[in-house]
Amino acid sequence: MPRILVVAPNWIGDALMAQPLLARLREKLPGLRLDVLATDRVAPVARRMPEVDEVIEAPFRHGALELRERWRLGRALRAHRYEQAIVLPNTWKSALAPFFADIPIRSGYVGESRFGLINLVYRNREKRVPMALHYARLAEPPGKEPKQPLPEPRLRVDAEAVASTARRLGLVGRYAALCPGAEYGPAKRWPYFAQLAGRIGIPVVLLGGENDRDACSRIPGKNLAGKTTLDEAIELVAGAALVVTNDSGLMHVAAALDRPQVALFGSSSPEHTPPRSTAARVLWLKVECSPCFERVCPLGHFRCMNELGVERVLAEIEALGVTSPAA
Ligand code: SF4
Repeated sequence: MPRILVVAPNWIGDALMAQPLLARLREKLPGLRLDVLATDRVAPVARRMPEVDEVIEAPFRHGALELRERWRLGRALRAHRYEQAIVLPNTWKSALAPFFADIPIRSGYVGESRFGLINLVYRNREKRVPMALHYARLAEPPGKEPKQPLPEPRLRVDAEAVASTARRLGLVGRYAALCPGAEYGPAKRWPYFAQLAGRIGIPVVLLGGENDRDACSRIPGKNLAGKTTLDEAIELVAGAALVVTNDSGLMHVAAALDRPQVALFGSSSPEHTPPRSTAARVLWLKVECSPCFERVCPLGHFRCMNELGVERVLAEIEALGVTSPAA
């Protein structure tokens, strides 16, 4: 039985963009044992992927080298006898545990000049290809294109758990989930969630991380930002009649749950990281400086988001047919 370990990216959205790679590995290798090594930021998402046999939680802090811990983890991984590791992050440190584990084939993009740590090396042929394709190429030998279309990311949720999480957190009936955060930086954050919230026509719940809590407190609705686990946030998104997000991890979660969704893009590009769901509608003004992929607007005017008005978003919500926006 082939045994592969995939080292997951450290961002939720990227982890979901990597799911088509996992699906392709499963298709190509019957009987595959497919494990994922993920930090606690991403592990709850990976556990909901039907392609994954086991998620091994990496005990690393975000951004830390922690050489000794990586060596220890690598030694522990030897017992799994993986034949191949596919390392998705581009960092040098992310390739250390598979190297210390003596996994014979360690594939991935060159990234931070990882020759030696990675011994089946892929090169970026073009800049900013769709992320799902970028990762799915790792299911093929270097230079070979994967078959299209790629499978869509899909997460498992339990209907009972979805209903009980909503009840426990005080949500009754239909609601819209607004996700005003974007961990990457302010250049991805649409500034009019507060104006939108009062006009959606159904109760609003605000979801996000600890860092979004203050911003969410200024938006009408039930503020659960920073008060849920990632699993609870996933279940609340799964139960929502409508989701409105920036280009963020929760946008990709909503797409993987096939929820009716409006996704707002400014400094980034839906050609690179689209919500991969037919239930998603994308708004992107594509002003002349967009996409810049910066964390903070380098020009100061932030036109890519400032000029994307509430009426445009309400029109998309109406087109989805899930609510009756208030005047
Ligand atoms: S430079 Fe343009 S695309 Fe980038 S954040 Fe500013 S307005 Fe948006």
